[in-house]
Amino acid sequence: MALTPVDDWLWEPLSCASLLLEQFGVRTLEGYGLNKKTDAVSAAGVCLRYARETQRVAAAHITDINYFEERDHLVLDAVTCRNLELTETQSGAGRGHTLLSALDATVTGMGARLLRQWMLRPSVRRGEIEARLAAVEDLHRSQMNRDRVRALLREVADLERLVGRINMGTASARDLVALRGSLDQVPAIRQALSDSEPSLLQIIVENADEMPDVRELIAKAISDDPPLNFSDLGVIRDGYEPELDELRSISRNAKQIIAGIETRERARSGIATLRVRYNNVFGYFIEVSKASASRVPAEYERRQTLANAERYTTPELKEWEQKVLGADGHMLEIETRLFGEIRARVAQETKRLQATARALSILDVLASLAEVAVRRRYTRPVFHDGDELEIVAGRNPVIEAISDVPFVPNDLYMNNSTDRFLIITGPNMGGKSTILRQTALIALLAQMGSFVPAERARLPVLDRIWTRVGASDDLARGRSTFMVEMTETAAILHNATPRSLILLDEIGRGTATFDGLSIAWAVAEHLHDSPEHAAKTLFATHYHELTELAERLPGAQNYQIRVVEREGEVIFLYRLERGRASKSYGIEVARLAGLPPSVLERAREVLARLERYELDVFEEEAVAVQKAPEGNPAGLTLARGGEGGDALGRAAGRAGRRALAAQVTLFDTVNQALLDELRSLQLETLSPEEARQMLLNLKNRLV
Ligand code: ADP
Repeated sequence: MALTPVDDWLWEPLSCASLLLEQFGVRTLEGYGLNKKTDAVSAAGVCLRYARETQRVAAAHITDINYFEERDHLVLDAVTCRNLELTETQSGAGRGHTLLSALDATVTGMGARLLRQWMLRPSVRRGEIEARLAAVEDLHRSQMNRDRVRALLREVADLERLVGRINMGTASARDLVALRGSLDQVPAIRQALSDSEPSLLQIIVENADEMPDVRELIAKAISDDPPLNFSDLGVIRDGYEPELDELRSISRNAKQIIAGIETRERARSGIATLRVRYNNVFGYFIEVSKASASRVPAEYERRQTLANAERYTTPELKEWEQKVLGADGHMLEIETRLFGEIRARVAQETKRLQATARALSILDVLASLAEVAVRRRYTRPVFHDGDELEIVAGRNPVIEAISDVPFVPNDLYMNNSTDRFLIITGPNMGGKSTILRQTALIALLAQMGSFVPAERARLPVLDRIWTRVGASDDLARGRSTFMVEMTETAAILHNATPRSLILLDEIGRGTATFDGLSIAWAVAEHLHDSPEHAAKTLFATHYHELTELAERLPGAQNYQIRVVEREGEVIFLYRLERGRASKSYGIEVARLAGLPPSVLERAREVLARLERYELDVFEEEAVAVQKAPEGNPAGLTLARGGEGGDALGRAAGRAGRRALAAQVTLFDTVNQALLDELRSLQLETLSPEEARQMLLNLKNRLV
C-alpha cells in the first residue's frame, strides 16, 4: 500500500474550514453539523485537498459532507469485522466465503458498494431499520415487482462513478450514452414501485429523477454508438449542428469522388490491381503492384516504394485529399467543442444525478436483500424496546450458503438479567464458534435492514458487537497471539455496555492453562458483575471448570453443544442445549484429523493417568479443606471471599493441577538445595543463637 504523508501545517483547522466553505459554496459549516468539530474539519479538508491535487480539478461532484459519530451506527471494530468475516475471510484470502459474498445479489456497482456500507455500519435507529425492513418485505412479497425492478436495474450503469467522471472532465461519449441508457430505465422503475406502500420505496420514487432534459440533450446530441476514439469522428449526432452536417457532406462527397477516381483510373490505365488507399502518414495515394508499375500514366508522381508495390499521387487526388482532411480537421474541432459543452451542461445537473444514483442504489440493495431472503428462506426480524434476544431455529448465513449438508438450526435466548451470560461448552469442531457468529450475524443483518436466517427472531437494538474469536496471530504487527488477545479483551472490558453483544471464544487459550483459566474466570466475573459493562455475552470455552460459574453468577447459564458417542466414535449433533459438556473429546477430534493410532492410544493412556492424578490431588485437597476452613488450600489468588470461594477454588484447583505437576519439579530444585545445605551442617560447631539464625534463613528460602 502506498502512503502519502501530509505536511502538518495542512491540518490547520481554519484553512481546512475555508477550503470546505469554498467547495460547498456556503458561509458556515454549521448546517453540516461541523460546528466546533475541528478534528473532523481538518480531516475532511485534508482529504478534499488531496482529491483536488491528485485529480487536478475542482472535484465539483463532491457536493455534500456528513458528520457522524461512531455511536450513530452499530459499532463493529476492525477485529470484529475480521472475526465475523464480514467482507474478508480471516486468512485474508480475498472475498472468499464472507457474509458479503453470501448476501450480495445486487446488480449495480453502486448497489454493491452501498450494501457493503450498510453491512459495516448497520443502523441503531429503530425507525430507519423498520423502514428498510418494510421495504424489503414489500419486495419480498411481490416477485413480479422484484424481478422487474432488478431487471431494469441491470441496465443501469454505475451512476456514481459516471457523475464523478463527468465532473472531472474525463467522461467519454460512451459514458454519456451509458448515462442516458441508465436514466431511460427510471420511468419504468418508478412505475414498478408506484403501488408500493412502504415509505422508503415512496422516497425512492420521489428521488429517482427521470431527468428528461438530460436524456433529451444526450439523445439529440450524441450518436447512439459513438466511436471509442474521439478522433475517429462521429460523436455528435447528425442534425444537431448545421455546420457539422455541412462539413460531413463535403467530406463524404470528397471521399466518394476519391472512390470514383479508383474506377476511372483502372479503366484508363488497364491495371486491374490499381487501388486508391489511405493511411495516416501519407494520406490518400494510388497503389500499383510492382509488376504493373511500368504501365502507370506519365503524370503519376511516385511517393513511396514498397517491396512489391509502388505508391503514387496525382494533382487531382491531392486536391480532394485537402478537402477531406480540411473538413475532418474542422469537424474534430467542432465535435470536441460541442462535446465539452454538453458534458459541462450535464455536470450542472450533478445534484439531481447524485440523488437519482443514491435512490437507485438503495433500491438495488433492498431488492437484493429481498431476493436473498426469498432464496434462503429468511424471515423478518421483530425489534422491541426490551432487552430480550430470542432466536428460534437460527442458522449461520455464511455456512448455510456454502455447505452442501443441511445446517442444523438452533434456538438461543438471552436477556439482561437471568440469561445474560451464556457459557457454551462442547468438543472442538462441535459448532461453538458457529453459533457465536451466527448470533452476531443475525443481529447485524437485522440492523442493516435485512431479513434473517431464522424461523423467528425478536431482537433489541444493539449498540455494539464485540468479538474475541480464536487465537489468530498478528505477526504482521509483531504482537504475540496472547498479547493481541489481551489487548482486545481489555478494549471490551472498558467499553462494553448493557446494549452490547460480546462473543468470547476460547479466551485465555493463548497462555498456560492456569493463567488462561484465571483470566477467563476473572473476565467472566467482571463482565457479569459490573452493571455499566453488563453486556450480553456468549462465552465459548473448553475450560470445563468455567461451567461452575453458572452456579455462582445469577445471570449466567450453561449450554453445551451436544455430541453422542457410539461405539467409541463421536457423532456431532450441532445441537445447542442447556447444561454442560461432560468432557472435551479432544482425542476423538484428533482421530478425525488423522493422527496415527499409536499416538491416539498413547494420548488415551496419558489422559487416563492425568485424570487419576487429578482425582488423587482432589482427594488430598478435600482433606486439606477440612483442615483449613478458609477454603483456600492451594493458595489460589483467584479465590474471592464469600460463598463462591469454594466453587472457584475447586474449579481452579482442578485446572491448575496439571500445571502444578509441572511446577513441582521447579520447586523441588530449590528445596533440594536447601536440603543439601541442611545435610552438610556441622551442628556441633554452631552456637544456639547461630543455629536459630540458620534455621530462620533456611525457612525463609523454602518455597
Ligand atoms: P468449534 O468452535 O466448536 O470448534 P465450529 O463452530 O468451528 O466448531 O464448527 C466446526 C464445523 O462444524 C463448521 O465449520 C461447520 O462446518 C460445522 N457446523 C457447525 N455448526 C453446524 C450446524 N449447526 N449445522 C451444520 N454444521 C455445523
